[in-house]
Amino acid sequence: MTPECPRCGQGEFVVLFAGSDRLYRTTTREFQVVECASCSLLRLEPRPTPEELRQFYPENYWWSPDPSVPGRLEGLYRRMVLGDHVGFVAPGVERGPVLDVGCGGGSFLAALARRGVRVVGLDSSTRAAGVAWRYNRVPVVCASLENAPFPPESFEAVTLFHVLEHLPEPDQYVGAARRLLAPGGRLYVQVPNAASWQFLLLGARWSGIDVPRHLVHFRAADLVGLLEAFRFQVLRQKLFSLRDNPAGLATSICPGLEPMSRRARGVPESGGTRLLKNLIYASLVAAALPLAALEAAAGAGSTILVEAVKQ
Ligand SMILES: [Zn+2]
Repeated sequence: MTPECPRCGQGEFVVLFAGSDRLYRTTTREFQVVECASCSLLRLEPRPTPEELRQFYPENYWWSPDPSVPGRLEGLYRRMVLGDHVGFVAPGVERGPVLDVGCGGGSFLAALARRGVRVVGLDSSTRAAGVAWRYNRVPVVCASLENAPFPPESFEAVTLFHVLEHLPEPDQYVGAARRLLAPGGRLYVQVPNAASWQFLLLGARWSGIDVPRHLVHFRAADLVGLLEAFRFQVLRQKLFSLRDNPAGLATSICPGLEPMSRRARGVPESGGTRLLKNLIYASLVAAALPLAALEAAAGAGSTILVEAVKQ
């Protein structure tokens, strides 16, 4: 266990609130979300050891295609809302290669590949890698970014969607991404926004806190500061994601209904029950859309998506 702040190395902190694993229920242990008394970065306390962390991730912690009717509807919805991510990244890349870190089943990279971009995925799960290749023809390497077997400066772009908040030391990944990027290469990062209305209103109930998997909670300034420390220049920032912001609010309100969590927890459901639960969850997401859009318009959206260029 390393009690110090991953940014400034100081140990003093102020406790904001306590919470447990509301989404996947992998543990009943309580953790605290604390603010560093020295540099104000928010983080999880106590920080789980690597062995503990592994137990907090369910086996199928990513989405894979499913031929049933509810599964196909979910796939259709996911492809639709993923368009938002593709639309943000596509203008910054020409022919690739693009490396998506934490690529899961590879749907994002498949969408880029359909635009003629060369793609490679990186994921810690060999099962995810298998799905990405079988269903999406996306090649995936199973490694951490620091140990990934790629030559320096070999990528036109690197994407880190919802990765940095899971790492004990996010700066190592930013440094590794910098080494892998060609001069002028683009880095795309998305994290939950710890200065969002959802965070302020819901605290430990906000799904973006995701105790105990999220180890660091970024505000926009924290993320920009981290990227600038590695000589990236932030070109664009977006606080709204069609895929993540409304669904995040729906999940905060009803974590037990979230489809991936139900699957990962192995909740027994008939096809009809599953469809009904998915429809209720989809209605919640639709109802959450106006509030999620409003908070983003007010500069307090629940995710931060940035495009940065290697200087
Ligand atoms: Zn600190």
